[in-house]
Amino acid sequence: MDMYEHSSSSLNTYLDSPVLFYAKSRNFDFGPCNRQNVSSLSKFISHRIILEYDLVLRALEKHKFQAIEKFIQEIFWRVYWKGWLELRPQVWKDFIEYRPQGDTSSFEAATAGKTDIKCFDDWVDELKETNYLHNHTRMWFASIWIFTLKLPWQLGARFFLEHLYDGDAGSNTLSWRWVAGLQTKGKHYLAKPWNIRKYTNERYLNFQLNEQSQPLHEDHAYSIEPFPYGSREEKLNDYLLLTDNDLNFNNRKEFYNKYKRIFILTLSNEKRIIPISRKVLEFKDNAISSFKRYYPHAEICDDTFEEVAESIINFDVVYPFVGENLDYINQLESDLQLNINFLVRREDSFCIPLCKKGFFDFKKNIPEIIKIITELRNALVASPQSFAEL
Ligand SMILES: Cc1cc2nc3c(=O)[nH]c(=O)nc-3n(C[C@H](O)[C@H](O)[C@H](O)COP(=O)(O)OP(=O)(O)OC[C@H]3O[C@@H](n4cnc5c(N)ncnc54)[C@H](O)[C@@H]3O)c2cc1C
Repeated sequence: MDMYEHSSSSLNTYLDSPVLFYAKSRNFDFGPCNRQNVSSLSKFISHRIILEYDLVLRALEKHKFQAIEKFIQEIFWRVYWKGWLELRPQVWKDFIEYRPQGDTSSFEAATAGKTDIKCFDDWVDELKETNYLHNHTRMWFASIWIFTLKLPWQLGARFFLEHLYDGDAGSNTLSWRWVAGLQTKGKHYLAKPWNIRKYTNERYLNFQLNEQSQPLHEDHAYSIEPFPYGSREEKLNDYLLLTDNDLNFNNRKEFYNKYKRIFILTLSNEKRIIPISRKVLEFKDNAISSFKRYYPHAEICDDTFEEVAESIINFDVVYPFVGENLDYINQLESDLQLNINFLVRREDSFCIPLCKKGFFDFKKNIPEIIKIITELRNALVASPQSFAEL
């Protein structure tokens, strides 16, 4: 089974009925062998093997909105974080440029799972072994990291990116900032032992955490920069570049076949600011190999893309959103004077400008977003060839 088949089978199983219990049970972390109360689809969603908008529509084909509202809302948290970061790319730049100073011994103990907090040490091992953590556990983990172990949030966010299969610039950076109290100014998330005990089904008892800490504070505010690309789904060049941030071709199957050559960029650790673990690199390689099953002529480019870009300068590029891939492409564009046309999905260009304020404001738009994505899908079903003209 390739990754598309695997994701589709996991998705069908989850949507059959477990999703109906999501709202009631999702906050429990019963341990890595018992994950039926959440979808565990994030590694597919973050590489867009499953597209968020398709997932929403698939779920609504099977169930009424009211029955799965919480699940839909959580998917839109991801859309929201991505859009929020698009409008404030400086937040990513500051995060990625952060360099630690001073003694590193407590960081090393924490990332080796050698603190005296048993649950935390177990989660470190689980993260390295399974490359996944439950959402509630990510919140507890980040909170203990920042407020009990007093480590910089940026190092924790890097540690997550290094090991998570679903590691994502938007969701990860902004969730860490949210726990720290930087995202919603002055409102931090303090993990409480009673809460951990309850939601881990009494697996962790008798431990203490710092429950008094104040939120972190930063002096400057980030201003909104307008999203520069708008909606663009028009083929302008003969060469297409994709990255592991968006390997979805559901509605673009024919469209991608119109290109003379397709390149898939995969960044090695030498080209990354934040190196990722061998297992995460392998996961990405696997995702890309699965893509190649459907486009056998697609060429995988790691560090060789620079050679390609020396002879070809005009590319259509599937927009990878703010993150390492975009940084790399932008750098190459300016170093080699490339001429790049970013392809931005209509759904994304509709959602991004809605992410100016908090999630509470954003979520009021969910019914309208669902209406728009339904219309786009219906138009495609009626006339699959009309993709570029839609
Ligand atoms: C400190 C911290 C770091 C995180 N880092 C990442 C990350 O790097 N990549 C990532 O995809 N998610 C991240 N999340 C969000 C969330 O924890 C994961 O998306 C979720 O746990 C994935 O498990 P699942 O697929 O079973 O989710 P489910 O609960 O089944 O939800 C379905 C989908 O909705 C989306 N989703 C659900 N909850 C959230 C959320 N709170 N924020 C954003 N999207 C959400 C995901 O795409 C998820 O796959 C982070 C959360 C925290 C608190």
